[in-house]
Amino acid sequence: MESSKNYEVLLYYNYVQIEDPEGFAAEHLQFCNDLELKGRILVAPEGINGTVSGSREQTEKYRKAMNNDPRFADMTFKVDPHDGHAFKKMHVRPRTELVSLRLENDIDPLQTTGDHLSPKEFYEAMQDEDTVILDARNDYEYDLGHFRGAIRPDIETFRELPEWVQENKHLIEGKRILTYCTGGIRCEKFSGWLVKEGFEDVAQLHGGIVTYGKDPEVQGELWDGRCYVFDERISVPVNKKEHVIVGIDYFDGQPSERYVNCANPECNKQIICSEENEHKYIRGCTPECRVSPRNMYVKEHDLSEEEVQGRLEILGENLKQEI
Ligand SMILES: [Zn+2]
Repeated sequence: MESSKNYEVLLYYNYVQIEDPEGFAAEHLQFCNDLELKGRILVAPEGINGTVSGSREQTEKYRKAMNNDPRFADMTFKVDPHDGHAFKKMHVRPRTELVSLRLENDIDPLQTTGDHLSPKEFYEAMQDEDTVILDARNDYEYDLGHFRGAIRPDIETFRELPEWVQENKHLIEGKRILTYCTGGIRCEKFSGWLVKEGFEDVAQLHGGIVTYGKDPEVQGELWDGRCYVFDERISVPVNKKEHVIVGIDYFDGQPSERYVNCANPECNKQIICSEENEHKYIRGCTPECRVSPRNMYVKEHDLSEEEVQGRLEILGENLKQEI
C-alpha cells in the first residue's frame, strides 16, 4: 500500500446536454478502465456527475481529456489528495436524471437556478440577519456536520425535499434563502425549484461545501463538524480554523464523528457511534438488528453464541433467536 498522498479524489458535475447517455456511459467506462480509475459516475441527458479516484498521473490525464471535450471544457474538478483509491470498483451508469427531486415538471438548472455565491460571498451572506441557511442534503449528512445555524430538513432522500419545504414554508418565507450541498449539484436544481415556487431571493453556494473548505480566504469558517461524502472516506474535514464536533453517538449521546452501517444487512442504517459502542451493541441499531441471524458484526468478529449472549446480558437483552 502506498502511504503518501499520491492519489487524488475528483468530484465534479456538469449540466450539459448529452445526446446518447447509454452509449456515452459504455464508452466512458472503457476510458476510465483504461486509465485505471475507480469511482462512480452518473450520465443523464442533462449532464454528468462523478467521483473518481486514481494516482495523480491518472486523474490528471482524466481531467485533461474531459476538458478537451467541448461539452466539459469549463467543468471544474474539486481535487482532494488521498492515500489510495476511495472506491473498490469503477461504475459509469446511465440515468434519466442526475439528481432526482421527482418533480412533475423537472427543473433545467441551465434555465432556472438561484444566484451563485462564491465562498466569500456565502460566508458574508450567512452572517446577514435577513438570511436563512437551508441545508439541501439528507438528515444523516447534516448530523455529521453543517453550517452553523443551518436548518435541517427532516429528509432521508433528496426527492423528499420539495414536500418538506412546502410543509415548512414558514421557516424560510420572506427571507433571503441560502442553500448548500456537498459539491453544488443538488443546489443547482433545488434552488431552481425554490425560484419556480415563488421564493424571490434564492442563492446557492457555488462549488458546494467541498469548495468552501478549500477556499484560501474563508478556510471553511462557520462550518461545524465534518462533511459527509459518498465514497470510502465517509467524511472529510472542512473548517481549517476550528473544529467543533456536532455528531452525537447514537447509543450514548456523546460527541462522535464515526459513521458505521448497522450490521443487520436488511437494515443497514447509518449510525454515528464510537468503536467502544460498536462492540458493546454488536453494531446493531435495535435489539432486533443485534440478534439478526445475518448480523455482519457477528460474522466479521466470529463471535460465538455465548459471546453474543454475554453482550446482550450486559444490555439487559435476551437472545431471542438462534444465531
Ligand atoms: Zn439496524
